Amino acid sequence: MSSYRTHALSGAVLSTGVGVIISSMPWAAMLVPFRSSAMFDLLGQFAVLGAISALWPDIDEPNSFASRSSVTVFALLGCLSGSALVVRFPAHDSASASMITLALALIVGALIGALVGYLVPWGIQTIAGGHRRGTHSWLTFLALAMVGCVLLPWIPGIGAIFCWLAWGGFVHVLGDIVTPSGVPVWYPVSNRRLHLFPPGIAEFGEWIFVAVIIAVGILIGTAIT
Ligand SMILES: [Zn+2]
Repeated sequence: MSSYRTHALSGAVLSTGVGVIISSMPWAAMLVPFRSSAMFDLLGQFAVLGAISALWPDIDEPNSFASRSSVTVFALLGCLSGSALVVRFPAHDSASASMITLALALIVGALIGALVGYLVPWGIQTIAGGHRRGTHSWLTFLALAMVGCVLLPWIPGIGAIFCWLAWGGFVHVLGDIVTPSGVPVWYPVSNRRLHLFPPGIAEFGEWIFVAVIIAVGILIGTAIT
């Protein structure tokens, strides 16, 4: 398997490239949380979301960066959700009561988020059929993309999450098929592993992949500046 740094780099670069291609399309802004008419704002968000989303498939591995970060990430999301609720539905009491409400919302949000962050990797590791199975399957990403495309016009936020999970998974697998162990990309239909390079070259597959991604990143950089 490639390192999480390689996956994050490829996610950021390839997502920026896709952002350049689709930035003029009216639905492209639905894929990012902060709407803006400036292309660089859109591409910046594509780069960050691409880097993060390319990490999730390794959540099926207990010692991976994704599963080790899960509790922290979901706890932070819980804090954000809790404080957003307090801001959205402010209490019309004294300032001190509002501060106590906010503090409670942050604590409860963090606790619920941490619990979700523990349960999500555990659930995925239980149902995914082992490391590099369901979380590394193109069929999983196809299903996620279909759900995302259906939801996007109706519930843009949720639809966008599914689209990013599908795209991030696809980019992640590109970084794994270059390694010696390969990926069973058609799981559960087939357990046959796809290897991009023959043995010998695959030992250096991650480095070749990183070099290609850096070259693509330079090309994108020169194209948009
Ligand atoms: Zn992987």
